[in-house]
Amino acid sequence: MKRVYLDNNATTKLDPIVKVKMQPFFEELYGNPNSLHQYGMEVRPYLNEAMGNMYDALNAPDPDDILITSCATESNNTVLKGIFFKHILANPTKNHIIATAVEHPSILETLHFLAQNGAEITYVDVDASGYVCAERIASAITDKTILISMMWANNETGMIFPIDEVAHIAQELGILFHTDAVQAIGKVKIDLSATPIDYLTFSAHKFHGPKGIGGLYVKKGKELPNLLHGGEQMGGYRAGTLNVAYIIGMGLAMKQSVGHLDKMNSDVRALRDRLEDALALIPDTIIVGDRAHRTANTILISLRGIEGEAMLWDLNRAGIAASTGSACASESLHANPVMSAIGEDPELAHTAIRLSLSRFTTSEEIDYAIEAFTHAVQRLRSISSTYAYTNEAE
Ligand code: PLP
Repeated sequence: MKRVYLDNNATTKLDPIVKVKMQPFFEELYGNPNSLHQYGMEVRPYLNEAMGNMYDALNAPDPDDILITSCATESNNTVLKGIFFKHILANPTKNHIIATAVEHPSILETLHFLAQNGAEITYVDVDASGYVCAERIASAITDKTILISMMWANNETGMIFPIDEVAHIAQELGILFHTDAVQAIGKVKIDLSATPIDYLTFSAHKFHGPKGIGGLYVKKGKELPNLLHGGEQMGGYRAGTLNVAYIIGMGLAMKQSVGHLDKMNSDVRALRDRLEDALALIPDTIIVGDRAHRTANTILISLRGIEGEAMLWDLNRAGIAASTGSACASESLHANPVMSAIGEDPELAHTAIRLSLSRFTTSEEIDYAIEAFTHAVQRLRSISSTYAYTNEAE
């Protein structure tokens, strides 16, 4: 059966050259880089090269730090809990954190936990296109605000948020600024020498690196307390033997992804636009968010009269991997700020299907996806009594 992977915002395939680069570190180059013998010493230049790749890809000034973590979830927990320990516990009069309402659960759930422990949180809503402007963030700032945490690009809609503007506002007011850039690496130009970001989260498996490895950029002077105590690895900021092969894979994967930024914003964008234009012709659909403000690989399409799981099931039977983060009718609809902002009728079953491409997606795959998606919508609507009824009534 033909298979087409259109769920690259969930995870990506390992870049074949990254796999080749990692292989020796599972075999002959297995030394612990903290050891003083030749086995340890011989892997260190490769680690340095990988770290250099990441500093270069982000254009991070040299004295800043990149903390290696096990994933973006750990990076997000580290920055939020670290700021809570270092700043909020020390000075509870500055206990206010601002975040968008559409952050990833690794931010939202951590903030929920911090709120139970004395932090005050403002969640800023997105508008009907899934966007949030800098003015809306600025208007949430109070004299108690210690941190703004705003994702660079949203995982569901692909909407790109005004990070440069908000980072400058935060800098001017002496507020710490963190961005979850998981969905931005390799899609948006990131220049940490130009944009005043204090903390930036990333995860290798979102840019064709291995799963289970991520990072947290920490600006010089903005160091956080250690949450994993033990050995002296990572300059004492995160204990635990380094995952050498994965760090080396992440470094090369980031270099490759950032090196393919132009391809992402030309070839991949053209494929995405072709897919989107074709799907927009299906009646009763809404494409969420102006595509000029979206990452070049993402489409979130809302379909009236269709249950999310049924649609995913039909697509899966046709060999297409997609996802729905914001399924179905009323309760979950209102629970999802993106979908409630779009203003769909809560009484009518509908779903939002996310299709996300990568630089490995081919033109033939897009042709096939258009055909299979259109066919799935037609089939499901033909058996949906709710859809038939509401259409007759109009
Ligand atoms: N942040 C965003 C925006 C994401 O999309 C994801 C994964 O879906 C994460 C964080 C968590 O990433 P990880 O799987 O590396 O913990």
